[in-house]
Amino acid sequence: MVEQRERKRIVILGGGFGGSYLAKELTRRKYGLDVEVVVIDRNNYFIFYPLLIEAGCGSIEPRHCTVPIREFAPKAELLMAEVVGMDPESQRVHFQLVGDEQSRWIGYDHLVVALGSVTRMFPEDVVSGVREHAFFMKHMSDAVAIRDRAVELLELANAIDDLEERRRLLHFVVVGGNVTGIEVLGELEVFVREASAQYHNIKDEDIQFSVYEFNKRLLAILPDHLSNWATKLLRKRGINIHTGVSVKEVHADRIVDSNGETVPCSTVIWTAGIAPSPMLKNLNGLPLNKFGGMQCESDYRATGTPNIWGMGDCASVPGRDGKPMPPLAQIAIRQAPQLAANIAATEQGRPTKPGGVELQGILVPLGRHRGVAAIKGLRVHGILAWLMWRGIYLMKTPRFGRRLRVLVDWMLNAVCRKDYVQLGMHAASHRDMIRSKSGERASQD
Ligand SMILES: Cc1cc2nc3c(=O)[nH]c(=O)nc-3n(C[C@H](O)[C@H](O)[C@H](O)COP(=O)(O)OP(=O)(O)OC[C@H]3O[C@@H](n4cnc5c(N)ncnc54)[C@H](O)[C@@H]3O)c2cc1C
Repeated sequence: MVEQRERKRIVILGGGFGGSYLAKELTRRKYGLDVEVVVIDRNNYFIFYPLLIEAGCGSIEPRHCTVPIREFAPKAELLMAEVVGMDPESQRVHFQLVGDEQSRWIGYDHLVVALGSVTRMFPEDVVSGVREHAFFMKHMSDAVAIRDRAVELLELANAIDDLEERRRLLHFVVVGGNVTGIEVLGELEVFVREASAQYHNIKDEDIQFSVYEFNKRLLAILPDHLSNWATKLLRKRGINIHTGVSVKEVHADRIVDSNGETVPCSTVIWTAGIAPSPMLKNLNGLPLNKFGGMQCESDYRATGTPNIWGMGDCASVPGRDGKPMPPLAQIAIRQAPQLAANIAATEQGRPTKPGGVELQGILVPLGRHRGVAAIKGLRVHGILAWLMWRGIYLMKTPRFGRRLRVLVDWMLNAVCRKDYVQLGMHAASHRDMIRSKSGERASQD
């Protein structure tokens, strides 16, 4: 039975880019909605993803790439909880508050699903060992874990005499040569090479970076000439680029590629695409497509439902060209006002309008003050693209205080050396992986 409330309630599952911007929109007077807006997220912040890699590599403080949801959407209510299920019949969502084992339910009049995405994995018979041995770039802990790992490996490699083993320890492999993979590669390479100056036994040629991309070229989302320019630049910096090749096996101390070649390395960073949140499968009554995404109509309504809506990375919403809108923050942010207007229209008995948000542009920083950018017919590379990347994302960083913090971090970075220390947030399994392989050797030497 559907619970009766004095004020109608809109529940938003996921307070990431999409969910938080929507919560803020829905509480604005212009929509004329007198409703309670409740956001459920396992964190009380969302990550400003464009700055996550910089936060991981020490260019900005990790906390400065997070946005507190309560501050961002102060008129909405936040439940810091794990979403675990739903019952569309009684219009209720099942959740567990963080730190509390008791199961609870909350009723809704409208439900918005904005649970985002996860890193795409392949079945073990297609690519093995990724879950056990690879690093990812999705959460704050991932970004910090990669930095911690690099510092630990530099310490270890500096302490051993076996040159072959030192080079294996200092070989970093990125799988996936699109935007996230190339950003990680560019930033981490700079971080490791700059840090290595403090290690007397490590020479520049002991450090190696490689990228494997299944497509014929890196950064396939960009026009050919920008992608070629970025590839040339990365090659000049000594990065091994393998295009048209995938990785089939990931082990603690090596990878095997699709040509059957075994390559010794210590760290594999897996950035080979994304998949919709697997939690969608546990939410009864959601229409899912063959990729596990939530199938929506062009007005964001979940297909076949009256009051369930989808947005962001987890939803497949046809854009103006009929194709699903791409899974990007810039899309999720601009979906928010369209979806808020459609929920308001439904409440006020007006017809909804089809949405449709187009890509505004792609900016990719490559490290060392270089980048590539394609924004509405403008194609730029080099220092100008890097400056555009910094300028645009600084302007897009929510709230003045946060923008100032990021700006100060960048300015300090220009004049002070980074701290090449561990933050100790990495998973125990990853620590064990290094120690078991090379700890023995260090003691033998
Ligand atoms: C490293 C990186 C860099 C990126 N850079 C860019 C960029 O430069 N430009 C750009 O446009 N896009 C970028 N993106 C993509 C962008 O971040 C996503 O498209 C965007 O975050 C999608 O918004 P969303 O609201 O759908 O998902 P998210 O922002 O991921 O939000 C989902 C929310 O749901 C919560 N959640 C999930 N499951 C549960 C559960 N069971 N219970 C409770 N809460 C849950 C999560 O905690 C999260 O807060 C980048 C992504 C990554 C990983």
